[in-house]
Amino acid sequence: MSKFNTLDNIDVAGKTVMLRADINVPVDENFNVTNTARIDRTVPTIKELQEKGAKVVVISHFGRPKGERKSEFSLSHIAPALQKALGSTVTFIDDCIGTKVANAVAKMSDNEVLLLENLRFYKEETEGDVDFARNLVDVCDVYVSDAFSTAHRAHASMKAAVELKPSAAGRLMQIECESLDSVLSAPVKPVAAVVGGAKVSSKLELLNNLVKKVDVLVISGGMAHTFLKATGVDTINTDNSLVQMDMLDTAREILETAKTAGCEVILPKDVVASKDFKAHAEHMTVALDSIPATGYELLDVGEKSIENITSKIANCKTLLWNGPLGVFELEPFDKATNKVAQFAAELTKKGELKTVAGGGDTVSALANAGVDTIFSYVSTAGGAFLEWLEGKELPGVKVLEK
Ligand code: AMP
Repeated sequence: MSKFNTLDNIDVAGKTVMLRADINVPVDENFNVTNTARIDRTVPTIKELQEKGAKVVVISHFGRPKGERKSEFSLSHIAPALQKALGSTVTFIDDCIGTKVANAVAKMSDNEVLLLENLRFYKEETEGDVDFARNLVDVCDVYVSDAFSTAHRAHASMKAAVELKPSAAGRLMQIECESLDSVLSAPVKPVAAVVGGAKVSSKLELLNNLVKKVDVLVISGGMAHTFLKATGVDTINTDNSLVQMDMLDTAREILETAKTAGCEVILPKDVVASKDFKAHAEHMTVALDSIPATGYELLDVGEKSIENITSKIANCKTLLWNGPLGVFELEPFDKATNKVAQFAAELTKKGELKTVAGGGDTVSALANAGVDTIFSYVSTAGGAFLEWLEGKELPGVKVLEK
């Protein structure tokens, strides 16, 4: 049973439901939506509410207008994409509170969906202002929160509004929370985590939390260099390759915590050294003791590392993934990321591994590897996903709990 109300246990028939979605999607210079993922993922919630006989009023933020009305941040630009994804009329109202909204809600026809203006045109939204939340929910009977990707913010529409009305998690919020729970709170063991990316400093809290929770922790990407240096691999050239010299003690502490917690940490066994930071640059795969002293930077991990990582993953039942194993934006330095991701995807297809991924560049890295639709779950969230992995309480989730 879920820790919070879902659409299964809240009555919405004949009611006006306000849905806090996150349709903060990327757009090009002509306001064409370049990636509809966030819209597509909230559509099932809207459709289910409509099918259950609710009138749906959608609210969201879009960009960072910082409390000012700025036309480039108007949600009117997103209304056509929402209408297309939904297949029913979406009427845009150029405010999110006040008489205009109340009049529009009063006139709503059965299958119509209202989309209100960007919440962040009011600074009270990001300030978590309760009076603003009260004005917002004034027009609805039930409040549904589906914006997991904003759940790490105690904004008015994420927290106060939820407390003011009978409320529930939407389907996206529900599946995001359940997927993360299935990895960290009640996982099928053994659990492995792959953490890659550029810098140790941005993933400190995450690593500290993960070593206490998972059985195997794979550290790769640029941040692995700091760990290698900390364990005495002196061949890494700190001028060319990413090494955070001020993080060596921290890296050692993380390794120590892992040891105490019984978490096996997997570091690279070999690396791909490249003459340039560009695609198809001249490169070679070398063992850790043979890294050239000058003229090369480390952009990926090599075959031996890939074999080692996949052999460990093969023994696990659950895999959590955040961050690429190398510079995946530049071919062929996406090789380790692709190979390990494709290996995990094969096991997922066979039903032998549950794979959950998210946060920042991870989604593009997995899409580049062609596995984003094969993994068991890929989160739409960046910051919220990472904060969850760090073991922090998310205000927008906490407030939904019964
Ligand atoms: P993050 O946002 O911390 O997950 O980092 C993602 C970024 O790390 C991507 O842009 C990668 O290109 C970068 N990255 C991964 N491995 C390396 C590496 N060996 N050297 C430099 N950057 C890297």
